[in-house]
Formats: sequence, structure tokens, C-alpha cells
Amino acid sequence: MPSVLFVDQSGQLGGAEFALLQLAAHCRARSEVVLLSDGPFRARLEALGARVRVISDARVSEVVRHASLARCLQVVPGIFRQVRAIAAHARRFDVLFLNTQKALVLGALGKPLHRRPVIWYQHDILTREHFGRVQLNIVKWLVRLAVDHVVVNSHASARSLAALTGIDADSVPVIYNGIDARAFERVDGKNMAALRARLGLPADVWLAGLFGRLAPWKGQHIALDTLARLRDMHLVLVGAPLFGEDAYARALHEQAAALGVADRVHFAGFQDDVPAWMKAMDVILHTSTEPEPFGRVIVEGMAAARPVIAAAAGGVTEIVRHRHNGWLVKPGDARALGDAIDTLRNDPALAAQLAAQAFSDARSEFSVERYLQRMTQAIGQAAR
Ligand code: UDP
Repeated sequence: MPSVLFVDQSGQLGGAEFALLQLAAHCRARSEVVLLSDGPFRARLEALGARVRVISDARVSEVVRHASLARCLQVVPGIFRQVRAIAAHARRFDVLFLNTQKALVLGALGKPLHRRPVIWYQHDILTREHFGRVQLNIVKWLVRLAVDHVVVNSHASARSLAALTGIDADSVPVIYNGIDARAFERVDGKNMAALRARLGLPADVWLAGLFGRLAPWKGQHIALDTLARLRDMHLVLVGAPLFGEDAYARALHEQAAALGVADRVHFAGFQDDVPAWMKAMDVILHTSTEPEPFGRVIVEGMAAARPVIAAAAGGVTEIVRHRHNGWLVKPGDARALGDAIDTLRNDPALAAQLAAQAFSDARSEFSVERYLQRMTQAIGQAAR
């Protein structure tokens, strides 16, 4: 196994970071992780034995997805300091593995300095719905000029890369995120009352759970609209605003009050024990209004052996097969979501059948073992 320097922009725990957490822990003997900002992700990496170094610059960290060219130019000196620091460090490793877009920019710009093979794990759908024009152009040129290998988290992400850069989508390895089934096996979901009591959830109501950071495109507001249409059901929102979406979080509370459903919504905040929270649910919802690049929460819901209703766009359609291992609905459609919930609530046998197939698919198609094996293979190839 070659030595690897991993770079990730975030100190927060989003999907890309959970994917890196597993990989960096697996490769900890011959790797190190550079984070471009500090946060709880560092402690999680260190707890698993990964070596971590933070190379941060507050002004660069604050540049947002839709930043203007002028805003990008202001932070150029900070960018170059970080580029040099990462390159100096990368020279001590065989491969430079970039896990996010800012990591891509800072790691790839330093290629003439470090001259190491560069892998980028693309976790994004590279379209204008998700990113600014300037950012997309920067990504396009860096991928063309300074990245040796791209791996993507779904075919949907690969197609967006192809459209942006002209690279043949079929030539890009798709490596799905993997979910650790053992974390779900450790939770006793049979005694629902005890589990819910431990989590502070009501024992005797039908619970729908929506997992993910609070952000407009994750669509928690759609789930609230759906809740208002349905009776005898509670909604649990697990997640926090991780990247400055506090106004959206406040708006969700206001929306719940205005809809008269505040007593049926549980804002759980960020939770570490997602397997336990998932097993406490009757159904898992996914409500993203924009195409989801992958959607770990969907596979986690499947691994928890719960029926999953998901928004049919992006990588989600590579995970969920409608009526076989889950239920797909049109994104952003609160009525369709409500109908799907009603269907599964009124037909427990169907819900159980979907959950059983989901459980099996999560283990066979999206195992952490397969993810790690394919990822280490890609790193090995890059080093040659
Ligand atoms: N997650 C978590 N605690 C929470 C909410 C979410 O640990 O309170 C985890 C969730 O289990 C999943 C990840 O955050 O592994 C989110 O990944 P996903 O691919 O669904 O979305 P992304 O963050 O990449 O947009």
C-alpha cells in the first residue's frame, strides 16, 4: 500500500467526511489527513488512529460555493500560502488524495511543487444548481490539467463531470460509499419502546425520520408540508445546519409553528448514533430537492432495515429500485411524499418486504469492505 496524504476542506461531519473517515482509518499506518479547517471531524479521525494536521486560513475557508471572481481574488495570498504548505507536506507521500472541491483547488494548484500523483474523489454533482460559475470553471481546468485520476461516488456525479470537462463518463471509476453494517447490528431494534425511551422519542406514535444537515436543498421544509397533510404521525429531523444554514433552521421552526404541527416535530439536532436513531423510526424519508450526488442516509436507512422513501434524482436512483428495495417519489412534491407514506403505513407487509430487500442490498451492494477494497485499489493504481 502506497503512503497517502488525504486532504479535506471541512472540520464538519458531512457525507464526504464520513467516507474519508473510513478510508483514512483503514490506511492509518501509511497516511495522514490534512484538514483545511478544524472541527469535530478532526477528533473523529484521531479517535480512529489517523494522524491529522490542520492547515487553515480563515478567509479561504469562508469562500462559499457561489463566490464571485472578485471575492476569489481577494483570498489569493491565503490560497498560495495553503498551496505551498500542502505541497511541502505532500512530497513526503506517494499519492495525494483530494476529497473535496477546495482540497482539489489547493492540492492540484501545487502540482508543480509536489509532483505527486493526484486522485480526486468527486462527491458532487457539478452543475449550476449546486455551484457557482467561477467555481465550476476552476474545477474544470484543474481536473483537465492537474488531476491524474478522478473517482466518483455515483454515475450521476460522473455524468456531471463529463458534461463539465468533456471526460468520458464511462472512463471514470464509480466507487459507491460503503456503510458499516456492524454499527447497525449493534443496535437492538426489536424492543422499540426501550429504544425510543432511550432517545427521548414517543413510544406509541408512527415515526418518520429525516436525516441530514439542515439545508434548503435537503428539503426538510417539504417533509414539514407533508406532515401537515397527514394525521397520526410524527416527524423526527436528525441533523444540524453545518455550513451556516442557521436561517433555514430557524425558518423550519417557524414553518412548523405556522402549519400547526410543532407538537408533532422533533428537532433532534446532530446525532452521533445514527444507527440507533434510524432503527427507532417506522420509515426513513429523503427529501432533497436537487439531485443528490449519492445519499449515504438512504443506504443507512436500508442497512437499518427500515423502508425508505426517497426523492428520485441523481445518485439516489442508483441505490433505490422503486417498489423493490424502497419507494421513489418526485423531488419537491409534498403530496406525492404523503401518498407514499400513506401507502406504506397502510400496507405493513409491503413496507416489511421493501425493508428486507433494502437490508440485503445495503449489505451486498454498499458494504464498507467493498468500498475500501475498491478505493485502495484506485490508490494503488495511482501510485504506479
Ligand atoms: N449524519 C450524522 N448525524 C446527523 C445527521 C447526519 O452522523 O445528525 C450523517 C449521516 O448518517 C450520513 C452523513 O451524515 O452518513 C450525511 O451524508 P449524505 O451523503 O446523506 O449527505 P451529505 O452530507 O454528503 O450531503
